Amino acid sequence: MKKPFVTKQQVEEIVKTYPTPFHIYDEKGIVNNAKAVYEAFSWNKGFKEYFAVKATPNPVLMGILKELGCGFDCSSKTELMLSEAIGASGDDIMFSSNDTPADEFIYADKIGAIINLDDFTHIEFLEKTIGKIPETISCRFNPGGVFQMSNGIMDNPGDSKYGMTKEQLFEAFKILKSKGAKNFGIHAFLASNTVTNEYYPTLAGQLFELAVELAKETGAHISFINLSGGVGIPYKPDQEGNDIAEIGKGVHEQYDKILVPAGMGDVSIFTEMGRFMMAPYGALVTKAIHEKHIYKEYIGVDACAVNLMRPAMYGAYHHITVLGKEDAPLECTYDVTGSLCENNDKFAIERKLPKIEMGDYLFIHDTGAHGFAMGYNYNGKLKSAELLLKADGSVKLIRRAETARDYFATFDCLDVAKKLDQIMEKEGI
Ligand SMILES: *Cc1c(COP(=O)(O)O)cnc(C)c1O
Repeated sequence: MKKPFVTKQQVEEIVKTYPTPFHIYDEKGIVNNAKAVYEAFSWNKGFKEYFAVKATPNPVLMGILKELGCGFDCSSKTELMLSEAIGASGDDIMFSSNDTPADEFIYADKIGAIINLDDFTHIEFLEKTIGKIPETISCRFNPGGVFQMSNGIMDNPGDSKYGMTKEQLFEAFKILKSKGAKNFGIHAFLASNTVTNEYYPTLAGQLFELAVELAKETGAHISFINLSGGVGIPYKPDQEGNDIAEIGKGVHEQYDKILVPAGMGDVSIFTEMGRFMMAPYGALVTKAIHEKHIYKEYIGVDACAVNLMRPAMYGAYHHITVLGKEDAPLECTYDVTGSLCENNDKFAIERKLPKIEMGDYLFIHDTGAHGFAMGYNYNGKLKSAELLLKADGSVKLIRRAETARDYFATFDCLDVAKKLDQIMEKEGI
């Protein structure tokens, strides 16, 4: 059973100020979960979660996580700027990029972020670009082949563009050390959205063994191991979620088994979770505005793939609750669609739902990560507002909805811009 964190009554109140569609986030859920993450890894003195900014780049939400001790994992210059703007600096920021433009390395270095090198050739590129090798540096590992856990869940690192081979990693550590690096990190992201308590412990086991080998052969001082993201959430109601306490325990066991006996009991564990930190605590709320009966039954809503791209992009499942009908029988089968001129603009396909009336509010679950953030402007559609349901029950606007003015703002054609200005003025925008 998936339960919305707002009721129909609450949404009816909210829409008086903020019309649908909007993403709404649950502060209480975010805080409790982040605390549980820190509790699960409290056995490790240097533990830090670097929230993957790309998942939910909103300064208010990032601020909540920062208060609880989180740093930020950035993949671009704008994400670095955003992290800096909310007061993160130096070791609070991890720069895990790939195919990195020179100006992004320059900026990351300027604000003292920890740089995580995606490729062997980036050593020379970085040195040329910023004129030195930083004292603290991390390298991303890709073991190739297939990554498999005992429960059969697997992913395919051999097919992924990220990271260095094992041979390159050893060579990289030697070169970086000779160029003055003093504190080393190892990073790997080998499977995505894993709904199993085994992922981090399995990955940790492999990275810990690698760290011992690397330290022995290169003499590098390994100061942190970054398990990156990939811890999943149960998007489907019949899935069982991860137990972060169990995951922390599993990593601890590997740590005591592999690192401690090698005299490496001072290594800090870092994580870069995005989805696990935020996805369940965000939802897209949208209103049913049309119904259509042709060869199938369609419900048209006022949100579209621009507001939530995962179903269109990956065929991802997002659970839907019709607010006020939480306990009603699932007597209808609908495709729930947005208004894009793309037939993949469907939030649900042949989904069993209660009978939907026009004006009903649909709560699309688990949009708190990789939801709003993936938004785009196809068909001239505008991005929605983001709201925060605070722990005291009040609602705060944390990003206003885009207007046509935002959409047209980048035109460089004066006479059209002027004409658009007049049109928008008449429209009250
Ligand atoms: C996307 C990403 C993450 C976060 O992944 P989740 O699946 O949201 O946990 C972390 N680190 C890096 C380098 C990423 O690219």
